[in-house]
Amino acid sequence: MRQKFLDFYAQRGHQIVESASLVPEDPTVLLTIAGMLPFKPIFLGQRSPEFKRATSSQKCIRTNDIENVGRTARHQTFFEMLGNFSFGDYFKEQAIAWAWELVTQGFGFPPERLVVSVFQEDDEAYGIWKDKIGVNPKRIKRLGEDDNFWVSGPTGPCGPCSEIYYDFHPEKGDKEIDLEDDTRFIEFYNLVFMQYNRDLDGNLTPLQNKNIDTGMGLERMAQILQNVPNNYESDAIFPIIKTAAEMGEIDYSQADENTKVSLKVIGDHMRAVAHCITDGIRPSNVGRGYILRRLIRRVVRHCRLIGIYEKQGDKTLVTPQIAEVAIALGESVYPNLRVREAVIKGELEREESQFLKTLDRGEQRLEEILAKMQASGQKTISGQDAFTLYDTYGFPLELTQEIAAEKGLLVDLAAYEVEMEAQAERSKAARETIDLTVQGSLDQLAEQIQSTEFLGYSQLTTAAVVE
Ligand code: ATP
Ligand code: MG
Ligand code: MG
Ligand code: MG
Repeated sequence: MRQKFLDFYAQRGHQIVESASLVPEDPTVLLTIAGMLPFKPIFLGQRSPEFKRATSSQKCIRTNDIENVGRTARHQTFFEMLGNFSFGDYFKEQAIAWAWELVTQGFGFPPERLVVSVFQEDDEAYGIWKDKIGVNPKRIKRLGEDDNFWVSGPTGPCGPCSEIYYDFHPEKGDKEIDLEDDTRFIEFYNLVFMQYNRDLDGNLTPLQNKNIDTGMGLERMAQILQNVPNNYESDAIFPIIKTAAEMGEIDYSQADENTKVSLKVIGDHMRAVAHCITDGIRPSNVGRGYILRRLIRRVVRHCRLIGIYEKQGDKTLVTPQIAEVAIALGESVYPNLRVREAVIKGELEREESQFLKTLDRGEQRLEEILAKMQASGQKTISGQDAFTLYDTYGFPLELTQEIAAEKGLLVDLAAYEVEMEAQAERSKAARETIDLTVQGSLDQLAEQIQSTEFLGYSQLTTAAVVE
């Protein structure tokens, strides 16, 4: 699928560009969240392109989808976004025509299985789909700004989008097409028509150089083409799930919903973790490193939930073995996964064993709390205790709730929330005080400055000035 996409656009004059790192050059986001990100300076007019058309398969991570993982059929944190891009070259009509040709002829989707959306005010796109492509008007939907208007920030280039959805149940007819119904529809290809510049007052003026930016989800395509119920059961992810299930002596097809969610989280997060470490991120308590740490801890936690440690022996570290499958799955396209194999497994071993110890300490503490409660006949774990378990022992609330529930007890959630909010206030206040330590200011500086290239071997003076 990946190669078919890239070849299709290469044959139409697009330069194939390798996936950029998950660590973006762009300082405004922590991780690469879309295929267009490496091209952002071109779209913003800060860099002139070496070519007018490009195509790529970009590794992406979206932490905003973390709670969706395993719960919707279509969201992972880590996914690959296939894209075709025009830098002031072809525009709306050509982009739509090629997208349609690729989807219907290249991938063989029957037109009656497709629905397209356009921005509500974009009559031009509506007209192209209806008259030039011949899409049944009942299957063209106008959507609002939230879904179908792309902006890169409060000002700057922006424009309407048009998305292509696959219909799993065309027998339900054209009458009631609700694109929010994800049991019936899945968005898989989004075309962004970058045609305006937005100024500080919100006025839109047409851009001189109009651009095209698109994104097609590889795993969503796999779900559709492999005829499986969700992205996780496609061959891009399922081998990881299968291995984890085997380690827990679980039959996936017979597993209950919660177990399946856990396995899907493990499948998704393990790919994300392997690629993050390969791209140079290391577990820590700040920024990207914290995202990575959180992903690893969630893997460990879900491995515990579904009983993998019980089956493998309490002292066995299980994440390196699961990571091996993620490495094997990705290495043909991303050979660095294998190059960094030892680092990936080493970091996982360290994080996993540390977190398991933390969890052990938390459990001990919880048992003391429970014993006290039993003695006093109390039925609800206080918000303060639940918060201490979380804050000091790294013991997630769900785990406290789960263990409490096993003993017929509850957690005072309202009081827990109050503690959490107080904590958020405290850390906000901490951030607002000025850090005058050398380390603090170096950290701040390091956050602001991107990696630099040492020119001293060939150049004795430099025009670069640090502001
Ligand atoms: P959705 O509405 O389903 O959350 P989106 O509109 O946020 O998707 P875009 O930002 O338009 O997605 O990204 C372009 C394409 O990338 C999508 O059409 C989809 O195929 C894919 N994609 C986006 N987010 C994810 C994700 N979390 N997991 C897998 N694929 C994704
Ligand atoms: Mg989304
Ligand atoms: Mg969408
Ligand atoms: Mg979209």
